[in-house]
Formats: sequence, structure tokens, C-alpha cells
Amino acid sequence: MPARDDGLLTRVLHAGSPPFENGAAPVNVPVVRTSTVRFEQNADRIALHRRREAGEAVSTYGRHGMATHRALEAAIGELEGASRVLLAPSGLSAVSLVFIALLSPSDHVLVQDSVYGPVRERIEPLLKRLGVSFTYFNASNGVPAALLQPTTRLIYAESPSSFLYEVIDLPALAAFAHEHGVLLAADNTWGAGLLYQPLALGADISVQAITKYPGGHSDLMQGAVSTANPALGRRLLDTHDALGLSVGADDAYLALRGIRSLAVRLAQHGRNALEVARYLQTEGDVIARVFYPALADDPGHGLWQRDFKGANGLVSFALRRAQAAEASAFVDALRLFGIGASWGGYESLALVAPSSRIREHSYWRGAEPVVRLHVGLEDPADLIADLGQAFRRVLK
Ligand SMILES: *Cc1c(COP(=O)(O)O)cnc(C)c1O
Repeated sequence: MPARDDGLLTRVLHAGSPPFENGAAPVNVPVVRTSTVRFEQNADRIALHRRREAGEAVSTYGRHGMATHRALEAAIGELEGASRVLLAPSGLSAVSLVFIALLSPSDHVLVQDSVYGPVRERIEPLLKRLGVSFTYFNASNGVPAALLQPTTRLIYAESPSSFLYEVIDLPALAAFAHEHGVLLAADNTWGAGLLYQPLALGADISVQAITKYPGGHSDLMQGAVSTANPALGRRLLDTHDALGLSVGADDAYLALRGIRSLAVRLAQHGRNALEVARYLQTEGDVIARVFYPALADDPGHGLWQRDFKGANGLVSFALRRAQAAEASAFVDALRLFGIGASWGGYESLALVAPSSRIREHSYWRGAEPVVRLHVGLEDPADLIADLGQAFRRVLK
């Protein structure tokens, strides 16, 4: 990762640290578990309700979370450059919150066609039932000017995209959206706030699956929605309240604990993945194409260099002259890589990309099966040896 001079790493480490009481404090914020906020006087209760009504991030009820949650929100706020962060019980519920908070019957939304699959499979049917219409756009073709409708209210993007890491020109998309009075929301799960900052590049809202790199240890589900726009923050807060979204204090603590080591983990995932990606490029007899934006010949490399501060552990590749059954046998033959979907933990994973999903990405032109690797924190030499033995056993 290039050196940063903006103090972000330091601020992320110290965000939400407990204040001194009588001259002493623990390093970490306590896990505050409660269902009820207890008040000394009725007037205290009324005063706190007023502050919450005015939009302040204070808690009047257990569902809003207490000190542990405020500390986590502060750390995510630093990562995203946001003034308001709303926690959700999963990444997908955070994405749903964005759509439900911003859209009303008869509204239209433009969604990047290489977006995270459940947006199309789960959120679109729900929003359609509520009278919202969806159009998907090919983000590699520039801004979707021809698809804009008078009722378009939101553009939803994800860079790099799921499975193939299509990098998009987010600043251009933001300029286009704002020129037409449309909001731009971006899924920032890949960049986790350290590698990419959609709000600084012009997006109005950034959403992350905290489940992935911030959690970092494959032991929690969580999401976050972030914005630097107070009016949007208010709208998101009201919808968050209406949906009753709540995160347990233990999970909030785990996420904050993960974020303290996010930078060193991501740097190592990125180094290991680049080694694995370069190795995969040497297996040209079995691999047709490697997808990793940090590779100089990746189509998104230029935009990635311009807008990103590093790359993560996700590397995908298309097999040459192979059928789905061989891709399946290949992942079965791996010993160190588990077969699994939710990446971002310390361990390596492999997944045969569902062809129904990548076929919907206009970025994908092939027919061969695609395997997605999450390169973990193991010794990359061991991972490369494992991939090599699986290639030899199944495909050579
Ligand atoms: C995993 C993921 C999500 C959903 O997160 P969950 O916590 O699994 O619900 C959303 N967007 C992207 C890009 C993801 O990879």
C-alpha cells in the first residue's frame, strides 16, 4: 500500500477509545449489553429523547446500542470519511436499508450490472413489489446517460465489482448523478474504507459488509451505511429506526477489534494475492485469464491506480477449455483453500463462481468456468503449491 499522509491509520486506531475516569481508562471500550437505557431523572430521559429526535447519535433504548456501538461507528466514520454511520445486522441488510430509505413508489434506480448478486435476486423483487423500477447498466461503457429516466432517484454502484473486479470511474459517475439531481450509493466492501473511499470520490452513501475485512476473522455478520450528508443521514436513521435494525454489543465489539488490525491484515492479503495472481498468470496452459486489478494488464488497472490505495485478497481466474465439472473437481482437490463464499477472514477460500451470476455481468464475455479465490494470510508459497498440485491432479 502506498504511504498515506492524512493520518487516517492513526485516527482509525484511536477512534472511540474510552475516556479517562479518575485518571485511568481501559484500552478498549467495554461491551455494553443492555435492552433498556436507565435514567436517573425523568427530565434526563426527556432531554435525551429530544437530542435523538434532533438527529444526534445518542441512545434512548437498547436497540440503538450504547458505548460499544458509538465507538464502532466512530471508527467506521473515520474509514469512510462519514459523519453518520448506521450499523446493520448483515451487509445485505445495510444494502437493503439504502434502497428502502431512499426510494418510493414510482421511483427508478440504475444499478451496475456486475453488482453483488443478492441485490438483483433479493432486493429487486422486494423493491419492485413496493413500486420501484430497476434498470441495470454496463459501467464499462461510461455514464448511463441513455438509461436515465425523469423518475431516476438513485444510482447504485460497486467498484471493483463482485467476482470479476470491474473497476468503474466513480468520480465520473458521481458528477453525472449530481448533474441530474440523482443520488449515488456505492458498495465499498472490497475496499473496506482503507483501500477505497467512495464518499471522497463523490458518492453520497457508502455501504460495507463489515462481515468481510473489518470483521476479518470469519466470526461475525454485520453491515454499515455511511454518509457525510446530514439530510441523508437523517433519512437513513429514520428508516433504520422503522426497521428496528440492531446489532448486538458483542458483535459490535468484535467488529471494532477487527478494525484495529485492518490495515496490516489488508496489506498482507494484498501482497499474498499479488503473488498468487502472478503465479496464476504463469499457468497459461490451464488458465485463460486472471482477474485482479493490481495486475498491470487488468483492464481496470489504470482506474485502480488512480482511485485506490491498494488491493485485497480476492483473485479470480477463468479456466481454459474446462467445463463446470472440472472447475468443481479443481476446488475439491485444493487442501488449504476451504470452499466457501464469505471472504475477508484470515483464511483462504475458493469458490466456483455461479455462472448464472457472472453471465449477468456485461464485463464477462467468456464461457469457461470462473474460480474465485480469497487469498488468506497463510504463507503464499504454501498456497501456490496447493494450487499447483490441484491443477496437476485435475486439469493437466
Ligand atoms: C458479502 C457482501 C455483501 C453482503 O454482506 P453479508 O454480511 O454477507 O450480508 C454485500 N456486498 C458485497 C460486495 C459483499 O461481498
